[in-house]
Amino acid sequence: TSSCTRSSFQYANLVVEKNTKKQRLPSDPSKLGFGRYFSNHMIDIDWDVKEGWFAPKIKPFQNFAIHPASKVLHYAQQIFEGLKAYYGVDGKIRVFRPELNMERMRRSARRSTLPDFNTREALLLIDELIRIDADLVPKTDQASLYIRPMMFATDQHLGIGESAQAKWACFTAITGSYFNYDRGIRLLADPEMVRSWKGGVGQYKMGCNYAPTIFVGKMAAMHDCDQAMWLSGEDRLVTEAGAMNLFMLWTNEDNELELITPPTDSGLLLPGITRQSVVELAKEWNLMKVSETNFTMSQLARAVQEKRVHEFFVSGTAANVGPVSEILHCDKEKGIMEKLLIPTMSSKMQLYKRLHTALSDIHYGRIEKPEWQRIV
Ligand code: PMP
Repeated sequence: TSSCTRSSFQYANLVVEKNTKKQRLPSDPSKLGFGRYFSNHMIDIDWDVKEGWFAPKIKPFQNFAIHPASKVLHYAQQIFEGLKAYYGVDGKIRVFRPELNMERMRRSARRSTLPDFNTREALLLIDELIRIDADLVPKTDQASLYIRPMMFATDQHLGIGESAQAKWACFTAITGSYFNYDRGIRLLADPEMVRSWKGGVGQYKMGCNYAPTIFVGKMAAMHDCDQAMWLSGEDRLVTEAGAMNLFMLWTNEDNELELITPPTDSGLLLPGITRQSVVELAKEWNLMKVSETNFTMSQLARAVQEKRVHEFFVSGTAANVGPVSEILHCDKEKGIMEKLLIPTMSSKMQLYKRLHTALSDIHYGRIEKPEWQRIV
């Protein structure tokens, strides 16, 4: 058809079909949980190798109909994103740095041989989706609208190869808080459970990176831990925790106060947008040295023993910034099971809290930082 385009779908071609049914929500935001209550509309766009991108649709939230041979169902050819819209103190709805999510999604698409699209066109469509369901964005700073863009291979052919068809979609979920931070987060570090490795795809937001982590999450729960802390390689580099990036505030081996987080150029971790924002804020504040440098599990264990670790925290869209209170390190080779207690929640500086507050102030418009706040 004439509305098909090769390089990207176009906002100008959008077709909207409104939903007449309304969603029922719990009135108490603490009962929302994460990703259980969906809003009324979704974006749905098809792509075909011969035709290019079809006209984008916003339509009532509903099931997909896909062919049983679709590659996504067999070979996990799927990518996704996660970002949030917040109802501000001034009544405006702000999305946090969404252009970074779309850039990351395009990198994931490229590695997955899924089609490219234009960042700006995607942002215009997401704006429209949020505006259509604007009354479902929770009017409290205890909740937000989680936005889930995704793309997957819908080819009707079982061959392992580039898909001739794909679908780009996006829906939203009315979401409360992900964690209860009262006791701090406990992490299980088991070097036998590896999430990423050199030459792998750990830096992309592909569904295939997450399926194998569910089993490890269950193992963590068996040890009374909330998440796995991922170690990679012979030297057991500390990379991420669960589906979050991580930070340590410590006195380093040169006796400097340092905020350290593993670098993204190793390809071993997802370059989180919260992570990038924390690094940028901490550099702006200039309270300590800020480093994107690798550290190993043994450096971490030694520093904890020498009481040089002041705070350890995770970062992500769902969790914002969350304090870590314990790391359970098991090392079957050496027959060790050691519990590292981290005094994050009683630290003098409370850096994790300051960062949490600063990010939340930007999310809910209590502080203006226009380049991080896309108003829809
Ligand atoms: N690591 C992984 C593996 C993730 O899935 C996520 C969530 N997208 C993050 C880190 C945090 O990224 P962001 O701050 O962009 O949410």
